[in-house]
Amino acid sequence: MKKIVIIGNSAAGISAAESIRGIDKEAKITMVSDEPYLAYQRYKVLDLLEGKIKERDLNFRNQDFYNNNSIELMLEREVVELNLNKKKAVFKDRDSIEFDELVIATGSKVKLPALKGIQKEGVVALNGLKEVKFLIENLPIAHTVVVVGCGTTAINVARIIGAKKIEVKLLGALNEPIEGVEAIINNPISEILGDSEAKAVRLANNKVIGASLVIFPEPKQPSIDFVRETEIKCGNFIFVDNQMRTNIPFVFAVGDCAEFSGQVKYCGWESALKHGSMLGGVICQK
Ligand SMILES: Cc1cc2nc3c(=O)[nH]c(=O)nc-3n(C[C@H](O)[C@H](O)[C@H](O)COP(=O)(O)OP(=O)(O)OC[C@H]3O[C@@H](n4cnc5c(N)ncnc54)[C@H](O)[C@@H]3O)c2cc1C
Repeated sequence: MKKIVIIGNSAAGISAAESIRGIDKEAKITMVSDEPYLAYQRYKVLDLLEGKIKERDLNFRNQDFYNNNSIELMLEREVVELNLNKKKAVFKDRDSIEFDELVIATGSKVKLPALKGIQKEGVVALNGLKEVKFLIENLPIAHTVVVVGCGTTAINVARIIGAKKIEVKLLGALNEPIEGVEAIINNPISEILGDSEAKAVRLANNKVIGASLVIFPEPKQPSIDFVRETEIKCGNFIFVDNQMRTNIPFVFAVGDCAEFSGQVKYCGWESALKHGSMLGGVICQK
């Protein structure tokens, strides 16, 4: 029986699992995620922060999906290494899982800048549900919140928190004013102050702003550190051909972590779903 391991339990990983199971009823499929949740609609997490939806509305696939498709799900398991000779993925606790075919669907995560104090509690790399739940818990006791960035997600986060009548300092430009949000430009953070918890940020001009939450919704980087030490070819992303094959015959990559060589890279929920849905035909016809 073929053993297929999918690292990633989100749009790309789920659609890959579905398309494989649609063709191969026998293969042993295992999905691995470093998050503690069943698959959820990551692109909607800001709606939860805004209070427009409940947590259950984020559901993408429930436990029945995994049961009915005989998919083994390993949650809170971070893959930190690949051994391609032994066809093994190694977890943080050094336990490992063997595969015949490997699908990498690990998406992208915020890369925090190397600033003094960046490890303090209250500094948030906004990647998904875990961080949004932390914000929902902690915003009611926050006086001022710093949001770093000027992309769509950063501006949305600033707008949502500003609307909750909490003072927001956005370290980035705004095209048009947002009530409750002060944009500060050309003055990046030089240090995060506080003991174990963030209490304030020092800016490049030495000005100190009190803040118990410092949120980084960007910049995102593909989650492929564990791939970089292997012979799998990568640039910023993992290189794949138009059938999502890497240069290693038994390794595939889909979704936000993968890039078609020589083409403009598109990230996003729909494109991740599309990538994954191609895999059944490719893997099962090998
Ligand atoms: C706040 C926010 C708002 C967004 N808004 C939109 C939007 O409006 N429209 C849109 O199209 N997209 C949006 N996106 C982006 C969209 O969610 C992603 O493009 C999409 O989720 C990518 O799917 P993916 O399956 O490739 O990766 P992801 O959804 O990132 O999933 C990656 C999976 O891999 C797992 N993983 C990662 N590394 C490891 C590891 N080392 N070991 C084990 N497991 C690992 C993770 O736990 C997760 O299960 C938003 C994202 C965020 C965070």
